[in-house]
Amino acid sequence: MGDGARYVIRGARVLSQDRTVGDLDRGDVLVEGSTIAAVAPDLGELDAEEIDGTDRIALPGLVDTHRHSWQSLIRHVSTDWTLPQYFSGVRGVLGRLYEPEDMYAANLLAMLDALDGGITTIVDWSHNNNTPEHADAAIQAVLDSGIRAVWGYGNSNDEWLPISEVPQSRDVVRIAERWFPSRDGRVQLALAPRGPQFATKEVTLADFALAAELDIPVTVHVGDGAWGKGLPVRWMRDNGLATDRTTYVHCNALADEEFDIIRDTGGAVSVAPELEMHMGHGRLSVLRSLERGIPTSLSIDTCASVAGDMFSAMRAALAGARYLVNIEALDADRAVDPLPVTSVDVLGFATQGGATGAWLGQTTGSLTPGKKADVILVRTDTWGMQPLNYAEGAVVESGHPMLVDTVLVDGRVVKRHGKLLDHEFAHVRRLAEQARDRLMVRAGVENPGRWQPAVYENK
Ligand SMILES: [Zn+2]
Repeated sequence: MGDGARYVIRGARVLSQDRTVGDLDRGDVLVEGSTIAAVAPDLGELDAEEIDGTDRIALPGLVDTHRHSWQSLIRHVSTDWTLPQYFSGVRGVLGRLYEPEDMYAANLLAMLDALDGGITTIVDWSHNNNTPEHADAAIQAVLDSGIRAVWGYGNSNDEWLPISEVPQSRDVVRIAERWFPSRDGRVQLALAPRGPQFATKEVTLADFALAAELDIPVTVHVGDGAWGKGLPVRWMRDNGLATDRTTYVHCNALADEEFDIIRDTGGAVSVAPELEMHMGHGRLSVLRSLERGIPTSLSIDTCASVAGDMFSAMRAALAGARYLVNIEALDADRAVDPLPVTSVDVLGFATQGGATGAWLGQTTGSLTPGKKADVILVRTDTWGMQPLNYAEGAVVESGHPMLVDTVLVDGRVVKRHGKLLDHEFAHVRRLAEQARDRLMVRAGVENPGRWQPAVYENK
């Protein structure tokens, strides 16, 4: 399965996410090396290894544009916490106690969880790089996993305690030289700065200047909860920080004017629908982004609270966005017609929208000849998928990681017949459990599942 391998997926239901290729009731996908070579109803005889697509939906690999992968060690610990408890427990207690090997174990687990669920590209929003060794360990795990990624450098735990006056660590300069010498590798670098809500204006200007110095894109949290009402995007525009290489995470509490700014400056939006509804970030920004034609993507945010699969995120986005318009209509004695967002839309958010939000819109996100071969097959020969009537609806409403039969990243088969190929579950599980145990001992937390941290106070 090296670079020269050729595969042909035969007879799949193809949802290409490419207008020219279209959707095929029955189609073949040819992969040559790391690239998609052809997509057509019948490619005929070929000298290529066959992958049977019968009873499978072929899709581009899914894209998660914002995940704090280091938090996978504390999976579900904050599922029933408020946002202030999250700041208190995760930032106030746990973050600073991570060792580099914990970053490695957490990131490897997170990436393999993602791949298992058909996520072939992830923006690792890595904001717990307490020392250079933490960052190196996190990046090593991303590389070892086999996923396509943008690794977002996001400072140390202490630098995140708001409102931060601590200038950006320049370790990212070393990181860029050591790990990201090329601009077309499978893993790329971005800056994940604190932004105007978590740092002073002076620090934010310095952070963005560092991204410009390194010529890397920026992903930034804005508009989450009450903090987000202070017109952060308008301030960014006024200071020259709103560009076509900026992706805005959350955006719930932004003003309409700020969505216009994002559209007019060529930015992209990342919505973490399930987490935002749990933790009080505000109204989902899906519709305000969609109606302006802003590239819209979905993200998991943190597996400390929610599941790490994009099927869950797509369902949450669809239901959450419709809930808002349905409630408003009901209150005003109006009917909703037509629906303002569909399963086709959210599948687009999780594929091409995600690729664009990860600055990889020309590389991945659709089954387009010439793009990288990031392809997944979702089973439909199951109790919950038959009879198959509406493929997009089936993927969004009934998809889950265990239905992901096959995953290719960069033309390499990393999951086949429902099993990841290159990593042993027992080994990675042990790494993660041991890291979790050491972390909880250092934190003095006896039972992480029953832990209720006191509310964080901003001193
Ligand atoms: Zn986040």
